[in-house]
Amino acid sequence: MSPELTIDPPPSPNTASSDARPSRLADRDAAHVWHPFTPMTAHAREDIPCIVEAEGFELVDDRGRRYLDGISSLWCNVHGHRVPKIDAAIRDQLGRVAHTTLLGLNSQPSIELAARLAALAPGDLSHVFYSDSGSTAVEAALKIAWQYHRQKPQPDERDLFLTVSGAYHGDTIGSVSLGSIRLFHQVYGGLLFDTVSVPSPGQFPRPDGMATDAWHRHCFAAVAEVAREHADRLAAIVIEPLVQGAAGIWTHPSGYLAHLRQLADDAGALLIADEVAVGFGRTGTLFACEHENVAPDLLCLAKGLTGGYLPLAATLATPTIYDAFLGEPHEGRTFFHGHTFTGNPLACAAAMASLDLFETGDVLGNAATLADALAEELAPLRRHPHVAEVRQCGVMVGIELCRSRQPYEPFEATRRMGHEVTKAGRERGILVRPLGDVVVLMPAPAMPEPLVRTLARETIAAIDDALAANA
Ligand code: PLP
Repeated sequence: MSPELTIDPPPSPNTASSDARPSRLADRDAAHVWHPFTPMTAHAREDIPCIVEAEGFELVDDRGRRYLDGISSLWCNVHGHRVPKIDAAIRDQLGRVAHTTLLGLNSQPSIELAARLAALAPGDLSHVFYSDSGSTAVEAALKIAWQYHRQKPQPDERDLFLTVSGAYHGDTIGSVSLGSIRLFHQVYGGLLFDTVSVPSPGQFPRPDGMATDAWHRHCFAAVAEVAREHADRLAAIVIEPLVQGAAGIWTHPSGYLAHLRQLADDAGALLIADEVAVGFGRTGTLFACEHENVAPDLLCLAKGLTGGYLPLAATLATPTIYDAFLGEPHEGRTFFHGHTFTGNPLACAAAMASLDLFETGDVLGNAATLADALAEELAPLRRHPHVAEVRQCGVMVGIELCRSRQPYEPFEATRRMGHEVTKAGRERGILVRPLGDVVVLMPAPAMPEPLVRTLARETIAAIDDALAANA
């Protein structure tokens, strides 16, 4: 922290202080920081906490208020904050070298991490291409898929990517093209390339009068029909395995991922698994693909890769794909892609320390306990008049708020009910972040069970606070 960034002295350690003094940092934030995915006019009107430190699973703001991190600091924290073993691994690496490049040089931590990821990943994903965010992991995967088809032993010109409705794969032009969040396509449509999209089995709301089972059958058939229709052009099927996070925690029925694997094989296309959100324990296994014994051709990882500590992403590829890029320099088979901080040694050291913790502790066992605790604590919401659905997979939860449950009617978007719950949650000492009117809970897989129970109970209370304040 630079010396001029003075912090207001904490009044007294507490949760949910009613102290509403404007903070000096907040003024400077308003003057200089352009926040991502944030309507800045509304942001500037609000009393937003400014986080200055963390301890375990809590974040502390510049007024000493503590908040339980209910969203794993945007779905990436795994073992908590200031974890001694990860801190030590980063410090140790800092004592060697903070950054060097993978363009023209090898780097020890990137080698060790790649070997470990290749051993842990489902199937035969032996080659690791590093980048720095989930978006770039997906961007790399789609360029690899495109180039692979043009360079494989019997090349073709496959140019079509199949995705599901509500998909979110990041914010770069390629990853936005693969996604189908309507608002982003309205704004950036002119910059994007066409894909073919099929209805997601996790979609909410489902078409009028359609029972869940019937909808699932419809979606299985629809994707099969589209994959067959475009078989000659299909470069890849792209999927967030099991859970579409940013769509609003849309969960897929069992068998859907395996179905996509089969369809990709039948069409001669690749399967790209975007495990940026679902990887590293969030669904209960290290990788979500394990639930269905599916081995993708390309696997995208980021967020939890470093335990949520540092920006690092990886796109893993099979030997078949990798081999298509081999050749002498003049043959032009190189993968023409790479970021300055690719394979950053500090981030790789953090990732290895995080994997150590998966191996030495029972993070996945804990995640299973947390999943049960969340289901139990949130059960009352299934009868709540303003909750249409509670969707859950592992420690990923989406609570769909509504004006009326039966028949389903959403709240008017201008009421920003999801956001109101976030504000009420802050007053109660929990941090949650909505996706529209879906309240998302995403505790770290290693969070102690009592804290997760507190998170769930305070979330229910925050929903009721927000409803009462906005009746
Ligand atoms: N893919 C998925 C499934 C995601 O959920 C996200 C981010 O939430 C991304 C890609 C993009 O990751 P990043 O924000 O690190 O670019």
